[in-house]
Amino acid sequence: MTERLYYDDSYLRQFRARILERSCDGLEVYLDRTAFYPTSGGQPHDTGWINQVPVIDVIDEGRWIRHRLARPVEAEVVDCELDWERRFDHMQQHSGQHVLSAVLDRHHGAPTLSFHLGRDISTIDVGVPALEPERLQEAERQANEIIFENRQIRVSYQEASQAEGLRRASDREGLLRIVEIDGLDRSACGGTHVRSTGEIGLVLLRRTEKVRGNLRIEFLCGRRAIARSRADYDALAEIARLFSAPLDEAPALVASQQARLVEAEKSRARLALELASARGRELYREAAPDAGGLRRLVRHSAAGAITDELRREAQSFTASAKAIFLATFEEPPAVLLAVSEDAGLNAGQLLKTALAEVGGRGGGSARIAQGSLPREALAGLRQRLEAALGGGSGS
Ligand SMILES: [Zn+2]
Repeated sequence: MTERLYYDDSYLRQFRARILERSCDGLEVYLDRTAFYPTSGGQPHDTGWINQVPVIDVIDEGRWIRHRLARPVEAEVVDCELDWERRFDHMQQHSGQHVLSAVLDRHHGAPTLSFHLGRDISTIDVGVPALEPERLQEAERQANEIIFENRQIRVSYQEASQAEGLRRASDREGLLRIVEIDGLDRSACGGTHVRSTGEIGLVLLRRTEKVRGNLRIEFLCGRRAIARSRADYDALAEIARLFSAPLDEAPALVASQQARLVEAEKSRARLALELASARGRELYREAAPDAGGLRRLVRHSAAGAITDELRREAQSFTASAKAIFLATFEEPPAVLLAVSEDAGLNAGQLLKTALAEVGGRGGGSARIAQGSLPREALAGLRQRLEAALGGGSGS
């Protein structure tokens, strides 16, 4: 059985231990005692060094704790050291979780169901479907007040059958490890905590989301909260700088810019259509009529698409007397056909039939139609249409 040194001293970061057992490849070892916390209860494992060899994973096997190493260690008696920055960060997040969970439970009727300490952010799931933003802000304020009061956090042991006043009933039997925040909270927990709430530094609530009918609350404590606030400030300051405006005016400015952009885009689209109409009329004027007085515009493009603008151009071209407008694209393969009222042709029927013959699909009205077809059928379709429309290849 591995003695868990972190149970009674979460500040122990250097210790000497004996290797009792090792795996065949030597990459996993069992010690008689350890301060390395194994992944459990929502808190990730510690890292550090055993005789200067990196510890990359720590696994709780119940009676024993398994340490996974980057390479084998030969010695029997080893000097161990924790990556203290990582451990202390976990202590801040985990202790902050106790404070936050206690406040949410006590003042807001939101009991904590689970806790996850992530690499960047931590979350608790609470057993309510939602909490008003004002309530969350109030919980954040209350949690930070507890931190400012620098209340003691103590560890004690008690028989499960005799443990009273726990925030959440434990389903464990035998001796419970109880973590108590002075005057606030008693919880059965095997994790590592700071010794007084002041060391949590601060609690910052972030996003919430609904997960399986419960509310997931993201939060950050201590150094993480400071780093996140710094990053938030830098991002906001950059936005404000781009607007040459004070920080607090940035959201309103972004909103008004966005509205202006939507208006500008509407206006641009309208002008593009007007331009397409003018282009269609101009092309009609420039096109030479054949012996029958018919003006044809035939355009083959390698790439492109049938846009509103192209449709408008075709409609504009064929708004005048005796006109045919045909456009095809190779990639992706597509076709657009428009005819004037007096051209003596039905664009929809003509195109639908021609497309059906080459394995494509499409259709439209008597005046304008479009469709798509397999790449290899494009040349055949062009021939059919140009034959049907007369006059051969044009501009
Ligand atoms: Zn805990």
